[in-house]
Amino acid sequence: ATMPPLLSAIATAGRHGVLIKSAVVMERLGQTDRIVYDKTGTLTEGTPHLVKILPEPGFSENELLFLAAAAEHRSEHPLARAIVAAAHDLPRGETPGEAYDFRSAPGCGVTATVAGREVAVGSPERLGEGAPVPDTDGTAVVVRVDGVRAGWLLLADRIRPGAPEAVTALNRLTTAPPTLLTGDNLRAARSVAERTGIPSDGVRAGLLPHEKAEAVRELGGRVLLVGDGVNDAPALAAAHTGVAMGRAGSDLALETADAVLVHDDLTAVPKAVALSRRARRLVV
Ligand code: ADP
Ligand code: MG
Repeated sequence: ATMPPLLSAIATAGRHGVLIKSAVVMERLGQTDRIVYDKTGTLTEGTPHLVKILPEPGFSENELLFLAAAAEHRSEHPLARAIVAAAHDLPRGETPGEAYDFRSAPGCGVTATVAGREVAVGSPERLGEGAPVPDTDGTAVVVRVDGVRAGWLLLADRIRPGAPEAVTALNRLTTAPPTLLTGDNLRAARSVAERTGIPSDGVRAGLLPHEKAEAVRELGGRVLLVGDGVNDAPALAAAHTGVAMGRAGSDLALETADAVLVHDDLTAVPKAVALSRRARRLVV
């Protein structure tokens, strides 16, 4: 007996690295008319590294980094991991000690008490920072100590290999222009959009998790969303089809998504959309 076209397409998609959860999802992929991308961990590798430390007068580079790293110690955010990793390279003896009262605000940053001082690290926009944000193609996070700005940490993330190719192929397969959604700042978002082939008017930055989901609903049409983080779960659920990064993805994203990119290879997405369209022609 021959396999029904949609099941056969699921098997082929699986060989290309896309785990499709049902025949309904296989069918839906081909109905996509708009692609929406998350930035961090999806279009980028999601493993940023610290590129610059900019202390304010009264703080040294090492002191600023140590205070931030102590506050970030318990955060699982990729920016936190980059800051903690960078602090490991510094001389011992200057460690400020343990952090207490750790609090994390998703999409904003963290606060903790370090050596009796109140340290906050996070998004300048979300923390209501008045000073101009330093010029960077990456992400600038502000560090505050006892309510006063102590400096900035600049972090950068690489474009995921295959991302520009995937965006180009998906642009050909869809009628509506693509969109990039991110909690990060507009400058960092535009830089990633430019390097991957997303028009700059398709960039929506500074979004909280629920705002990503609202943006998906507002855009309208049948949206295929690709995302990775805990923050992307509401948007993955709101999309017509939600696709999660398999390795970089959080458990919640994997659970919420309709399909999973097993090897984090974005170029498998256009392949799956094309497979769906072919299978649907055979079904009808
Ligand atoms: P994205 O949507 O790009 O994956 P997030 O929603 O996770 O980004 O975070 C948005 C912004 O909030 C970050 O760019 C950063 O400025 C700030 N932020 C969130 N968590 C942290 C943290 N643990 N440390 C520092 N900054 C953070
Ligand atoms: Mg992400």
